[in-house]
Amino acid sequence: MRCRRCGKKGEIRLPRHNAIFCKDCFLVYYTNQVRRNIEKENMFSPEDRILVAVSGGKDSMALWHILLQLGYNVTGIHFNVGIGEYSAKSQEVIESFAQKHNAPVIIRNIPQELHLDVEKLSRRLRRSTCSICGAIKRYLINKITQAEGFDVVATGHNLDDEAATLLGNILGWQEGYLAKQSPVLPSSHPKLAKKVKPLYTLTEEENLRYAIYNDIEFVPDRCPLSKGASSIRYKEVLNRLEELSPGLKQHFLVGFYKKGRKYFEEASAPVQLKECKICGQVTTAEVCSFCRLMEIAKQI
Ligand code: ZN
Repeated sequence: MRCRRCGKKGEIRLPRHNAIFCKDCFLVYYTNQVRRNIEKENMFSPEDRILVAVSGGKDSMALWHILLQLGYNVTGIHFNVGIGEYSAKSQEVIESFAQKHNAPVIIRNIPQELHLDVEKLSRRLRRSTCSICGAIKRYLINKITQAEGFDVVATGHNLDDEAATLLGNILGWQEGYLAKQSPVLPSSHPKLAKKVKPLYTLTEEENLRYAIYNDIEFVPDRCPLSKGASSIRYKEVLNRLEELSPGLKQHFLVGFYKKGRKYFEEASAPVQLKECKICGQVTTAEVCSFCRLMEIAKQI
């Protein structure tokens, strides 16, 4: 097992690229992938102020680290959602990373600031905690981006996440989501942030390697409330297919971006954006989903 680039002893096998790398050459490969994704997809430039959403998991921590390494102007943002040990540990990991790398970070505590309990709200609405947390975080990220003058929001979504989302969207023929699924989501309104996913061609495994090789601390577990999420099942199915034909996952995703997405984009009617009657943020309804959640949270 020799490294494809330098001929030294190889450590990491990447069947979809038909390659084996040593540690140093893997880091070169990883860095080149991220740099290429940013440039090719016009995600951001060195002048931009980038807000990177960090959960404390390997993917977002790897993203935060590499963007700092590449010299970008990055600020981390973390939402503590108040889920026991998991949230406490995540915040700790993020604060210690920020200190070690002298990196600016914004930390917001959801239960304290909004006086709500995500688990209770989820039981009351019979809606998954992931979808509630997601709605709250998206709302706050748009607000913070606007208030603090950030140009773009970067998230750590990887190849496995994106391929699983795509599979789910296809299985349910979610035309609206298919039209919008992309490594770059431009801002469609001054109150909505541009969103990018610089790690969309890198797997979970590769982000894990990057984090370990760079001594980046991260929270190894998933959020305890995400158990049973359908995205986990889709990932398992895709992993099985990937074993049988390496490269299938990337081909599925990148092929969709290149060839498939445009059809959904063309077919989807332009959405009418309004301003929420309560908070003034952008929504397609009279009252935005965040304000509706807050109304219900008040009654519990
Ligand atoms: Zn609102």
